[in-house]
Amino acid sequence: MKKAIIIGAGIAGIASAIRLKAKGYDIEVFEANNYAGGKLSQIEGNGYRFDAGPSLFTLPVLVEELFELAGKNIHNYFEYNRLDEVCRYFWDDKTKLTAWAEPLKFAEEIQEKLNFPKQKTLKFLEKAGKNYDILDKLFLQKSLHILSTWLGADALIGYLNMPNLGLFETMNEQNEAYFQHPKLVQLFNRYATYNGSDPYQTPATLNIIPHLEYNIGAFFPKKGMVSITDSLVKLAEDLGVKFHFNTKVNQVIIEEKKAIGIEVNNERILTDLVISNMDISATYRKLLPNEKHPEKLLSQPKSSSGIVFYWGIKKEFIELGLHNIFFSEDYKEEFQKIFQEKTISDDPTIYINITSKNKPDDAPFGCENWFVLINVPANDGQNWEELIQKTRQNVLKKLSKILRENILELIDYEEVLDPRSIESKTSSSQGALYGNSSNNKYAAFLRHANFSKKIKNLYFVGGSVHPGGGIPLALSSAKIMSELV
Ligand code: FAD
Repeated sequence: MKKAIIIGAGIAGIASAIRLKAKGYDIEVFEANNYAGGKLSQIEGNGYRFDAGPSLFTLPVLVEELFELAGKNIHNYFEYNRLDEVCRYFWDDKTKLTAWAEPLKFAEEIQEKLNFPKQKTLKFLEKAGKNYDILDKLFLQKSLHILSTWLGADALIGYLNMPNLGLFETMNEQNEAYFQHPKLVQLFNRYATYNGSDPYQTPATLNIIPHLEYNIGAFFPKKGMVSITDSLVKLAEDLGVKFHFNTKVNQVIIEEKKAIGIEVNNERILTDLVISNMDISATYRKLLPNEKHPEKLLSQPKSSSGIVFYWGIKKEFIELGLHNIFFSEDYKEEFQKIFQEKTISDDPTIYINITSKNKPDDAPFGCENWFVLINVPANDGQNWEELIQKTRQNVLKKLSKILRENILELIDYEEVLDPRSIESKTSSSQGALYGNSSNNKYAAFLRHANFSKKIKNLYFVGGSVHPGGGIPLALSSAKIMSELV
């Protein structure tokens, strides 16, 4: 039996293990932490449970596929529901808007609250769907680094539709021209942050993202986001995949331009294939120190990172839902601070995820588990202690004003995640959430391929390589890798 070694049990590493096992490989996964999932894990304390990183689940079909491939019934492992409500939006001037999952209901809410014709919102979502279908087949499901991708029928459809894909204007330019209403522009510009980009720089192509939430759906795993990790680890183990936790890989062993094994705890373990789920920059710099590094690609600007305040709150807020956004007054200034000045605005947009709304056992009775996320720059050595303290105060001030409660007094439990701890927990370069930023139209081509062009039998998966960051794309990277194998 041929053997494959996977470095890292992030979501893409686990999916890779399942896919290659289904192809008949003997699989061992080596993970530096004592838990699986990398960013997709959880923290617990004082009766509260928090999903540590991702909070929005889209494209569950990519998880379902793994169970189908393995010939197992997903219902024995993993359950999830489609949400009726995607997000509650709040502005400082007391405007509130509920983004309903059903497109017509959402468009009607926008018409009622912001006086923007519902047909135009529906048309925008329809176009997002059409463009998504074109780009999904070309960019998200295939390697961009093999010739056949560019000669197939899907590529031809892509070439013919090039002028409509929004490559030549920014997301903000397209949204300003289309929506005109500043609050709606802000709402739709926010989708740039779904892969850590800046709406004032990223191409309007990313306007396909709302299609995922409104046309396909936003979902909630019944046992929390971490159950995506837990159920896939269980599936992999049931198939015979062997996981080694607390086992950091130190080097990939290369002989005659071929990956032949790894070095762990001063031991050489030989294999037929090596798949790295570790961040691509860290893979080159730490595991392949003697090989030539693709410097141009590795030194691309990074996506945004995040500061997360995990707050146990001693009160229930009926005006809040599972996903909530409190917008900044000046969105442009906020992104200028993140991407140009590499700091944090005094009035940041605040995202609050409260899983206890859907899963009450995530907080003690009468309390809520608030996951409070602020978009921040990747780590360039800023004074994070100072920035965290300042941002904490600004966040508390804004939330206390809008929710008319002294939030500080309600904090019963607190943990903080910042770009430094994201990097130390997962090896993500500069703590970026989504690898390289997508702030220019060539970004898709400036992500590393899912294989090495120079070293045989070496493959790469995860949020820092093609097709990009976020759970769905990390899962797609495993699919593309296994097809390449
Ligand atoms: P990672 O999760 O980065 O895991 C890599 C693994 O490799 C880690 O477990 C690490 O310990 C291991 N490793 C590294 N080096 C070694 C080594 N030398 N030896 C052994 N093991 C090693 N995505 C969404 O889709 N929706 C969201 O709402 C969302 N929100 C987010 C919010 C936050 C705060 C964060 C942090 C991320 C968010 N993301 C979101 C992004 C998403 O979490 C990631 O894109 C995705 O989980 C990346 O998975 P990955 O497989 O690339 O690996």
